[in-house]
Amino acid sequence: MKDAALLAEDGRIVFAGPDADFVRLYGEAPAPGETVLDGSGKTAVPGFVDAHTHLPWDGFREDEFNRRLKGETYAAIAAAGGGILATVSTTRAASEETLARNVRARLDLMLRHGTTFCEAKTGYGLDLANEKKQLRALLKGAKGHPVGVAPTALPAHEVPPERRGSSALKRRYVEECRAEILPALADGGARFVDVFCEEGVFSVEESRAILEAGKAVGLRPRVHADELTPLGGASLAADVGALSADHLLYATDEGIEAMARSGVVATLLPGTSVFLRTNRYARARHMVERGVAIALGTDCNPGSSYTESLPAVAFLASLGMGLTAEETLTAMTLNAAASVDEAKARGSLEPGKRADIVLLDAPSLEHLVYHWGVNLVSDVLAGGEHVVSRGDLLGSRAS
Ligand SMILES: [Zn+2]
Repeated sequence: MKDAALLAEDGRIVFAGPDADFVRLYGEAPAPGETVLDGSGKTAVPGFVDAHTHLPWDGFREDEFNRRLKGETYAAIAAAGGGILATVSTTRAASEETLARNVRARLDLMLRHGTTFCEAKTGYGLDLANEKKQLRALLKGAKGHPVGVAPTALPAHEVPPERRGSSALKRRYVEECRAEILPALADGGARFVDVFCEEGVFSVEESRAILEAGKAVGLRPRVHADELTPLGGASLAADVGALSADHLLYATDEGIEAMARSGVVATLLPGTSVFLRTNRYARARHMVERGVAIALGTDCNPGSSYTESLPAVAFLASLGMGLTAEETLTAMTLNAAASVDEAKARGSLEPGKRADIVLLDAPSLEHLVYHWGVNLVSDVLAGGEHVVSRGDLLGSRAS
């Protein structure tokens, strides 16, 4: 819409429409106490929603990144002690304070790139004490921050190092996730349960057992599905009524049909495809044609996608997966909000929704994917509060 106006009151949008209608309803001059933000020449879009992140971790893995550039594979690096278990060990060693500080710094960066809400997972603790520590650090880091956070319990992100070597040890860990860790994380404020359903990690049946146990303590399921092999995670997500199935590089036609039937959102993470040099993306166009709603996430983590920027992921979603500018924007706003059960409150600019608004320094929404590699976010309002101005964090956020 050209020549548009928005009005927010008490953190909610009360008007969104043509400027002429706004003036007719509310007049030219601002009412006493009203703040006016001039968006001339800019484009207002909904605050971005990042549907898949792993925020509370410590320890970078830039050495692995460079080793991959020199030709080593992720699997070879993992077998030599790198990969996800490297982050498990540094995250276990980190204090809750350090993890909370890391979360806060990452949320600040996300906000500067237009994100006003995100999902964020545990999953580098892999035991009761450390999974709880990660969740506490996530909530502490997010407390009072303009970016809202929906926590996900992911103790089944990997088989813990001390539970490898025999199927009985692994079985005991699955049982511990079900009986102890998931109930504790649900008590601690988690909203979702997730599992890495993948060959060599958790089988479809183990994943189902974990997700069902999560459901029993009030957690809504989501699934790391069909990322490296076509194991059947997409169908499992449909079976258990998951909100979202994520990655999906190897999702089969049947899996995609099942997701369409059950209304499971496909959360796609093209940043991870590029970062791991897989030369493969999820079949986004096929999913759109089959009626699956697509959301986007950064997958922010130290090993397979280190970015807080959803616009960077938007660029890859359009050029890598063939989503149009409009589809990309929908995937990082309304559909992403649906994938975290927030679509009633967030994800679009319409009366009744939270005033989470991003002003892009751009004349049209196409610029979001067309003008690439720069941060176009000029201003951000989160719940009506002006928290980013001309690219800078405002008030107590500035540090
Ligand atoms: Zn992930």
